[in-house]
Amino acid sequence: MAEIVALVQQAAATGQRIKAVGAGHSFTDIALTEGIQLSLDALTGLQSVNRATGEATFAAGTRLYDIPALLAPYGLAMTNLGDINVQSLAGAISTGTHGTGLRFGGIATQVTALTLVDGAGTVEHVSATENPELFSAARVGLGALGIITSITLACVPAFRLHAVERPEGLNSVLDGLTQRMASVDHFEFYWFPHTEVALTKTNTRSEASPWEHKRVDAGSRPLHPARRFLDDTLMSNTVFSALCSVTARIPQSIPRVNSIASKLTGNRAFADASHRVFATERRVRFREMEYAVPLESLPRALADLKAMIERKGYNISFPVEVRCAAADDIELSTASGRLTGYIAIHQFRATEHTDYFHSAEQIFLRFGGRPHWGKWHYLDAESLQPLYPEFEKFCILRQVADPQGIFGNAYLDRVLLPLPSVR
Ligand SMILES: Cc1cc2nc3c(=O)[nH]c(=O)nc-3n(C[C@H](O)[C@H](O)[C@H](O)COP(=O)(O)OP(=O)(O)OC[C@H]3O[C@@H](n4cnc5c(N)ncnc54)[C@H](O)[C@@H]3O)c2cc1C
Repeated sequence: MAEIVALVQQAAATGQRIKAVGAGHSFTDIALTEGIQLSLDALTGLQSVNRATGEATFAAGTRLYDIPALLAPYGLAMTNLGDINVQSLAGAISTGTHGTGLRFGGIATQVTALTLVDGAGTVEHVSATENPELFSAARVGLGALGIITSITLACVPAFRLHAVERPEGLNSVLDGLTQRMASVDHFEFYWFPHTEVALTKTNTRSEASPWEHKRVDAGSRPLHPARRFLDDTLMSNTVFSALCSVTARIPQSIPRVNSIASKLTGNRAFADASHRVFATERRVRFREMEYAVPLESLPRALADLKAMIERKGYNISFPVEVRCAAADDIELSTASGRLTGYIAIHQFRATEHTDYFHSAEQIFLRFGGRPHWGKWHYLDAESLQPLYPEFEKFCILRQVADPQGIFGNAYLDRVLLPLPSVR
C-alpha cells in the first residue's frame, strides 16, 4: 500500500499518468497507458472474512480463479460469475463484468466496501456508510477514480449448479424469452449465425451437499473428466480454433460449418460446484463487442441483428451470446436502473471485424444499448452521456477524486467528459 501511495504521489508531482492493470483481459485499450502501468499481480489473496455477515475482503489483484479455494474453508462462494475466471477482481468490477441471471447483478453489485488510493495519494476506505458517493461510483470506476487496493464482497453459502445445455429452435427461444429468463436462476444461449439453432444453458442453484450426486441420476453428477476434456477443451477450443482458422480462409464455408457445429455441441446435463459451472476455458483468440439493452428489447434487437447479418451477407463463424442481469444502482454499470439483456458478438482474431461491429452497434444503439466498458465499441463521451442518467455525476466525482487526471489514458479521454485541469 505504501508503495502505491508513493507512486501515485510521485506521478501527481511529476505530471505523469499512472494506470493499474489487472489481467489485461479487456478487449479495449482501457488498461493501456503511455505513462506508468502498475500491475497488481503481487497484491493478491484473502485479507479477512466476517463469518457473521459472509463478507470477505480480498487484495485487489486477486484472480477470480483463486477465489473459490480461498473461500472454501469458510463454506462461502461468489454468488455469480462471468464465463471466464482469469480476470483480477479489481479489473473485473472496474469494467462492469457480469454473468447471467435476472435476479443477479454483475460482480460489482457484490461489493460492499473498497479501499483505494485517490489522485492525491490519499487512502480512502469507502462503503455504503463511508463516503457513499465515491463508493457507489468506484464499484464500476473504469480505473478513473483511483487505484483500488482491496475489495470486500458479500458472499453466499457455497452452492452447486445443476446445468442443462441443449440445442433448441431460435424462434421458440425468442418467444417468451424474458419470462424464461425470469423463471430460472441463470439462463443464457448462444445463437449460431446462419442457422436457426440456439444452444441454451440453464443453471439451477441448489444448496445440496457435494456428495449428493452419489445417490442421484447422472444429470446431477459433475461431468466425467474425459467428457469435460472432450466438450470444453477439445471441441470448444482445439477443434473450434482449427475450424476458425479454416473458415477465416474460406468464409463461404461458414454457414455449413456453423450448421454442423450447432448439431455437435450442447445436449448435456451435469451438476457441480458453482464456480466449475459458471466459468469455462476460452483459448481461441477473438474480438468481442457486447451491448446491454433494456430486457424487453432483447428479442427484437437479436432479430434485427440476425436480419442485418443476412442482408449484408456477412459470414460469422462465432456464436452470438445472449445473457441477462438484474437492474442495479451503480452509476456506470451497463445494467444501471434497468433489467438488462446482453448481446455479445464475436469475430475470430484473423477475420476483419470492423464493418460487422459498426453495423451491429447501430442496431444496439437504436434500442438504447450501452457498451461493455471492456469490449469493443466506437462511442465517445458525447454519445455515452445520454445513455447514463448519472454520467455527469460520475465525471464530477472523478474531478474530485482525481483533479489532475493522473489515472486517465487515451480510452478515458475518449469516453469521459474532459476534466478542466487535465492536460
Ligand atoms: C475471453 C474473455 C471472456 C470474457 N468474459 C466476460 C464475461 O463473461 N462477462 C463480462 O462482463 N466480461 C467478460 N470479459 C471482459 C472482462 O471481464 C473485462 O474486460 C475485465 O475488465 C478484465 O479484467 P482484467 O483483470 O483483465 O482487467 P484489465 O483489462 O487489466 O483492466 C480493466 C480496467 O480495470 C482497471 N483496473 C484494474 N485493476 C485496477 C485497480 N486495482 N484499481 C483500479 N482500476 C483497476 C484498469 O485500469 C482498466 O481500466 C471477457 C474477456 C475475455 C478476454
